[in-house]
Amino acid sequence: MRASCRAADGIGVAVNCWVGRRTMRIEDYGKVAATFVDTQTGVTLRLVPRPTVRHAARVYAPQAVNKWDAQLVGYQLMPADELFEVQQVQLRTSIEQIISRPGRKAICAVCGEEIMNEREVLREGVTLCRACAGESYYALLADFGALPVDLPVLVRAG
Ligand SMILES: [Zn+2]
Repeated sequence: MRASCRAADGIGVAVNCWVGRRTMRIEDYGKVAATFVDTQTGVTLRLVPRPTVRHAARVYAPQAVNKWDAQLVGYQLMPADELFEVQQVQLRTSIEQIISRPGRKAICAVCGEEIMNEREVLREGVTLCRACAGESYYALLADFGALPVDLPVLVRAG
């Protein structure tokens, strides 16, 4: 499943899929959409809110005092086919790669950090983590080896 974080919380409750259980995966495309994969059949459906959904919520909740309230009440009353457009899609990454193998562990030959769930990369027979393979979302500025300041200071800094 792919969805924004706020929507992901609601979807998790509705379909009992969770990041921590590895039954939900979040991809930040700045959109609200959810893709569901039947891992037995491979059928993959993407649900997208219809562009008219916010206006329609007002129709279903005319007593609402504001837009937020209208959406909260209206979305609960609105038929699903009026809420969502449904698309059949094909994943660009196989479901086996997305799910990977839980419990599998490897050690990166460069940084020495543990890599879980078959997320390692093999380059010319060498096991690397994605960061050392050049797929990092961050750039290392300094390696202090331990926290240089109290953790709450780091959290406050964002
Ligand atoms: Zn590494």
